[in-house]
Amino acid sequence: SETGCLSIVVLGASGDLAKKKTFPALFNLYRQGFLQSNEVHIFGYARTKISDDDLRNRIRSYLEKGSAKSEEVSEFLQLIKYVSGSYDTEEGFRMLDKEISLHEEFRNSTEGSSRRLFYLALPPSVYPVVCRMIKLCCMNKSHLGGWTRIVVEKPFGKDLDSAEKLSNQIGELFEEPQLYRIDHYLGKELVQNLLVLRFANRFFLPLWNRDNIDNVQIVFREDFGTEGRGGYFDEYGIIRDIIQNHLLQVLCLVAMEKPVSLKPEHIRDEKVKVRVSNTSLTHFSFPIMPIKDEEVVLGQYNGYRDDPTVPDHSNTPTFATVVLRIHNERWEGVPFILKAGKALNSRKAEIRIQFKDVPGDIFRLFSCLGKNQGRNEFVIRLQPSEAMYMKLTVKQPGLEMSTVQSELDLSYGQRYQQVTIPEAYERLILDTNYGRLQS
Ligand code: NAP
Repeated sequence: SETGCLSIVVLGASGDLAKKKTFPALFNLYRQGFLQSNEVHIFGYARTKISDDDLRNRIRSYLEKGSAKSEEVSEFLQLIKYVSGSYDTEEGFRMLDKEISLHEEFRNSTEGSSRRLFYLALPPSVYPVVCRMIKLCCMNKSHLGGWTRIVVEKPFGKDLDSAEKLSNQIGELFEEPQLYRIDHYLGKELVQNLLVLRFANRFFLPLWNRDNIDNVQIVFREDFGTEGRGGYFDEYGIIRDIIQNHLLQVLCLVAMEKPVSLKPEHIRDEKVKVRVSNTSLTHFSFPIMPIKDEEVVLGQYNGYRDDPTVPDHSNTPTFATVVLRIHNERWEGVPFILKAGKALNSRKAEIRIQFKDVPGDIFRLFSCLGKNQGRNEFVIRLQPSEAMYMKLTVKQPGLEMSTVQSELDLSYGQRYQQVTIPEAYERLILDTNYGRLQS
């Protein structure tokens, strides 16, 4: 069922995410042969009235990066067609359906089913109406099979009520296997690596618990501010934008128990258990304890309100630190410190596992620093420059007996020089095409 015509529709094609992430990810998949020009066609849809070429010109510069050749870019851009229409009336979607069908007839004149992937690079406020229009006008109609799938971006609602409402609205229209709520952090190479690291290495198995680990830090820093996206950001803030989704997903992968297999459902079940557990048939408990006020720090960077799209008196946090505590056998007493901020001094996302001090330390007097040994620390840098390193105490090389902190370093740029690490969005879009669930 994975052959035949594939139509990828980017709704909100005129927007920021589409040009910076969605189209470049599609281009990279195309370059690597995952999207074949004899079966794929890409459609952009938005209200802005522009021509096919206008859209192509808007995104060209985002594709012509790195080793991309300009002929390749041009070839790819020719696969893109633009349809303009509103999000809440049938007219535009009927036109879109007509364009998709034309392409399908052309490709399927000899064989194959049809696959239609709708990528909603749109503000969440229009998700329900857009899904309704897709259902009404644009479903796959091929009698030879295939599918229609919907990809939605974060933020998925603003709070529990709005998330549930959105879920119900979309759930009435599509079956769960047709829906992909994507969190692009899960597509990052070193996030994908977390399961392998934790469960395929004897080194870590006995250490990964409250007996050995002092604290876990999951940190996201950006060195730029809202950059004109303040209107969006101000409604959500750093907690909803980064912590509630990306950092909590990472936390679950760090804290969960071993899944019985790599099936997405099994991984998902273990992740859920970090947050909710079923203690009896009728009672649930929440292993993550309520957050204490004194374990939260919020901040807003200077100049945030100068962004013309941000209200003058905005109180929205652009920085937050929260300490989460997991009340279970493995993690009781270990703080998980989540930090996220915009407009800071560096751009970095990392997980730091800090181990406890060595008991009965006999080297204290030999430390170069003249104090306790630094602690063992295991750091997983998600971006930029993917790396893992382990901080160890070693003997300072030389005749004297003194100790110093050093690192066992696995920097991907050095170790895997011939490998291009895929962008998170590439992997996720590919997964939606193969019908793989995100875990
Ligand atoms: P955007 O640029 O603000 O919006 C995308 C397009 O949607 C716009 O070009 C516009 O197209 C249309 N649109 C904007 N406001 C609208 C409104 N109020 N009603 C109806 N249509 C509207 O958004 P984005 O930054 O691309 O983000 C798209 C989605 O991805 C959002 O849910 C966002 O939270 C999520 N996301 C974005 C990023 C990022 O880096 N940008 C990262 C992760 C997730 P037309 O006017 O031409 O119709």
